[in-house]
Amino acid sequence: MSPVAFLDGEYMPLEDAKVGIMTHALHYGTGAFEGIRGNWNANDGKMYIFKLREHYERMLRGCKMLFIDLPYSLDELCTITTEVVARSGFQEDVYIRPMAYKGEEKVANLNLKALSDSFFCLAVPFGQYIESDGAISCCIASYRRIDDTMVPPRFKLAGLYLNSILAKTDALSAGFDEAIMLNQDGHVCEGTGENIFLVYGNTVATPTLESNVLPGITRETVLDLARNELNLKVEERPIDRSELYVADEVFLTGTAAHIQAVGSVDHRDVADGDVGSVTRRLQDLYFSIVRGNNPKFLPVYRCGSTGEGRVDGRVVRC
Ligand code: PMP
Repeated sequence: MSPVAFLDGEYMPLEDAKVGIMTHALHYGTGAFEGIRGNWNANDGKMYIFKLREHYERMLRGCKMLFIDLPYSLDELCTITTEVVARSGFQEDVYIRPMAYKGEEKVANLNLKALSDSFFCLAVPFGQYIESDGAISCCIASYRRIDDTMVPPRFKLAGLYLNSILAKTDALSAGFDEAIMLNQDGHVCEGTGENIFLVYGNTVATPTLESNVLPGITRETVLDLARNELNLKVEERPIDRSELYVADEVFLTGTAAHIQAVGSVDHRDVADGDVGSVTRRLQDLYFSIVRGNNPKFLPVYRCGSTGEGRVDGRVVRC
């Protein structure tokens, strides 16, 4: 297996895909990126890429924000991605990282419109994001989630992640597995790389899109599954920090983290501290879908016109 990357129009070995030290995005975080998973299904020997199109739709919204104008259509971005994965020959779960960024090698220039654009896409083998088979421990971060009046958090912009990185590093240093960030008005916002949900009774609740969360693709999927498959009541509303302590269940959602149960918040167990039954049901459903084992959902989550790309005899389904 030799990983392949796409950089500015060309496929090349990942190890040859380099940028210069004057690259604008390296200095200022001027990029819009995605984190996409390819889930390997050993039974049928196929890689399933979940909601590829939706990821690129989000990235293109970030491009609009940053005045990045890519020479590729949405369909072409999807094709580039399936090519990168298939040409790399992975037979295991992968993480796919496309980034559109200000690639011009120009320092000391803060005008987005004066800078040229670049794009790369790479994929690397990727197992668990949060090392845990059960419920994780979280703390409330002392860093607040950045506000729409500062850098818009509804886009997945590279520089924005300093906010998450500071909170996550503090949480890990203090012995927790993950941090939960509050927004500027003090309500629960999200994890450092995940959206957050709580469960009470037959209700599943998550902060609204206006509360400075990243509009998560897994969040959208979970809302859909909770409402339409598990027949639960779904609420998008402001959530108080103290609600987390007394919820029946708390879980995080994200492409990397999947659906991750939270067992404690600020040293207080969530219910009995274990994975809750709603979380478990959502996890089972979600994993069967993203790995291509749930025929009912395959057409729903297909991307592109055919939904299947075939490169070098390997099938990439998305
Ligand atoms: N919030 C943040 C800050 C994230 O980085 C992510 C991961 N992209 C998420 C939420 C979850 O989004 P998604 O489900 O689209 O991966």
